[in-house]
Amino acid sequence: MRCSLGVPFIQQFRVGSYIVKQKLQKKARYPLVLMLEPLFRCNLACPGCGKIDYERDILNRRLSVEDCLKAVDECGAPIVSIPGGEPLIHKEIKEIVDGIVARKKFVYLCTNALLLEKRLHMFSATPYLTFSVHLDGLERHHDEAVDQPGTFKRAVAAIRAARNKGFRVNVNCTLFNQMTAIEAKKFFDFCMEDLKVEGITVSPGYAYERASDQEHFLARQNTKELFRNIFRLGRGGKKWRFSQSSLFLDFLAGNQNYHCTPWGNPTRNIFGWQKPCYLLSEGYAKSFKELMETTDWNAYGTGKYEKCADCMVHCGYEATAVADTLANPFKALLVWIKGVNTEKSMAPEISLKNQRPAEFIFEDVIQTVSERMATQKQRNDAA
Ligand code: SF4
Ligand code: SF4
Repeated sequence: MRCSLGVPFIQQFRVGSYIVKQKLQKKARYPLVLMLEPLFRCNLACPGCGKIDYERDILNRRLSVEDCLKAVDECGAPIVSIPGGEPLIHKEIKEIVDGIVARKKFVYLCTNALLLEKRLHMFSATPYLTFSVHLDGLERHHDEAVDQPGTFKRAVAAIRAARNKGFRVNVNCTLFNQMTAIEAKKFFDFCMEDLKVEGITVSPGYAYERASDQEHFLARQNTKELFRNIFRLGRGGKKWRFSQSSLFLDFLAGNQNYHCTPWGNPTRNIFGWQKPCYLLSEGYAKSFKELMETTDWNAYGTGKYEKCADCMVHCGYEATAVADTLANPFKALLVWIKGVNTEKSMAPEISLKNQRPAEFIFEDVIQTVSERMATQKQRNDAA
């Protein structure tokens, strides 16, 4: 991870030790961050969201505390990110977080923060818990991105309240094509100098096939140009603390020719273990082991599959950048010291010539999984 004050030493040490252990055990594929989605229900309806358009029955389902902790134990990743939906809606979120923290895993609770101030009393400030607050820019941009006026002010008030109580707070920001580099710079400055958050997690939006707004997602070339322009305004990105590796930022600026590592951030939600990654939903496994052993990993990634063509999202590529950091520490150190190079020629883009066409199987997958779950429930009720 980026060696900055943004991520405490204990987290860097634990994650580093975990990776070294996986390497010593010669594991070719291992998870870095578990994406634990205990529900899809949200109290917002952002147009760029690909998670909330399920029917009511699915939105009402929850992973139990037991399911969540079993997933954490099965997976073994040192970091657990809890996105959603909105996790603070889950009635047992405190028990879920406490159980993960008791296992000495680092929890990033991703929230739109509308309920955060009200729920803060439920949690204890510890290095193992970070509130990762969804903010997509300054007030006008954020309220437009989430399609609800007033959300920016509430999120900012919640961030200040959480910081005053000693919690770790991170800002989680998805950039769409409405934002200019200057606007992004002002937003990052605000996060650092005014909100004084620990770090920023930044990523281009992924064009979810089910998101209602398809117009504002960034294509790869636009992503790279936007990030170069942003980093130019901030000493190659060194002006801000990002909670991501320096090589991932370098990748966003077009300097690395990476392939994704979808197993680096495996996803467990109410349907099971999602294949192949957090962004695509092309089947579900019943266990983490089954996910790792039965997913055709070679069938996915930019250049291989049409749905992956524009993806540069952190949950697909951060694990790649972390592995590269370990393999090439000197390269990573140089980027960290000098900042991201915004002037050199970009790394060649992956050819899309041989990618297989997109399969639109989402409805069938969900129907099959829902039927299987309903049958299981009937059996349980009858027993
Ligand atoms: S806050 Fe997050 S989960 Fe909720 S609608 Fe917006 S993007 Fe989706
Ligand atoms: S490129 Fe990788 S991380 Fe992105 S959608 Fe495809 S499989 Fe998932």
